[in-house]
Amino acid sequence: MVVFCFLVDQKRKVRRSKPAAGTCSRCGGGASVADMKTATRFCYVPFYWKSWRAIICTFCGAILRSYG
Ligand SMILES: [Zn+2]
Repeated sequence: MVVFCFLVDQKRKVRRSKPAAGTCSRCGGGASVADMKTATRFCYVPFYWKSWRAIICTFCGAILRSYG
């Protein structure tokens, strides 16, 4: 039996982060500068990675600002 898979998803990972000035607009938590890595997966097999930097909330994980 052949199973066709058309599932594409993205997995976001914080590689490292350090505290930054500013607060989250959603919850008021502290912000931090984070090196992010996003893996785009097709059928759970990663085929594309992208590294980027963002200001994220350390409390709720919201992305407050992203660079590239
Ligand atoms: Zn927040």
